[in-house]
Amino acid sequence: MADTTGKTIRCKAAVMREHKKPLIIENIEVAPPKAGEIRIKIMYSSICHSDENYLGGSRPWIVDSILGHEGAGIVESVGEGVTDFKAGDHVIPSFMGQCNQCRTCKSGKTNVCEVLKGEHYLKGGMLDGTVRFSCNGKPIYHYLNTSTFSQYTVASEWSCVKPVFKGGIGASSGLGQKIINHYLCQANTRSCVQALSVVLPQWHRSGLNCVKIR
Ligand SMILES: [Zn+2]
Ligand SMILES: [Zn+2]
Repeated sequence: MADTTGKTIRCKAAVMREHKKPLIIENIEVAPPKAGEIRIKIMYSSICHSDENYLGGSRPWIVDSILGHEGAGIVESVGEGVTDFKAGDHVIPSFMGQCNQCRTCKSGKTNVCEVLKGEHYLKGGMLDGTVRFSCNGKPIYHYLNTSTFSQYTVASEWSCVKPVFKGGIGASSGLGQKIINHYLCQANTRSCVQALSVVLPQWHRSGLNCVKIR
C-alpha cells in the first residue's frame, strides 16, 4: 500500500485557465478516490487534436480544468468497492468507459455510456458531481472522465482498463482513445482496449505524441 493512500497528493498538472492560451504548469492537490474510483499515477500522456479543440477551437471545455484523455499509468490507490484494480496495477484511463449497466451499455450497439456521459460530464465533475482536483482551495475541473495532463488523476473504475501485455506502459498511452474512436469498438470499449493492449504492444510507435510524465 502506498504511503499516500487515503491522503491528498500534491503534484504538478497542466491547467487550462483560459481558452486559446497556453496551459499553465501548476501545483495542485488530488484528493483520494471515493467509492468506485481509482487514483492513478500518470506515467505517459499523449496529446490529441481534440485537446486542442477543447482548449479553444470548436468545442471549448470548461476552464480551470485539466485536459488530456490519452494516457497510461499505475494505480496509486483505489476507493471503496473497487475490486478489478489494486495499487500497483498498470491502467489505461479511457474517455469511452462503460458502466455495463445502463441502457446503451446493455444494447451492445454503442460504446457511448449514458451514465459516464451524464450530467456531470460536461460540468467537469466526477460521477457524483464533485471534483477531486483543487488548487489553493479552489476546484479544478475534470475532463472527459480522464484528465491525463496531471501527474496524478482520479477516474471512475468504469473508465479504466487494465492492459494485459507486459511490454511497457508507454505503449498503452494512445489506446485510451485512438482506436476506440477511429477504427473499431462500436460495442465494448473496455474489452476492446484490453484486447488491443495484447496485440499492439508497440502501438506507441505508430503515433507521434506519447510524452513521458516526469
Ligand atoms: Zn484523442
Ligand atoms: Zn453505461
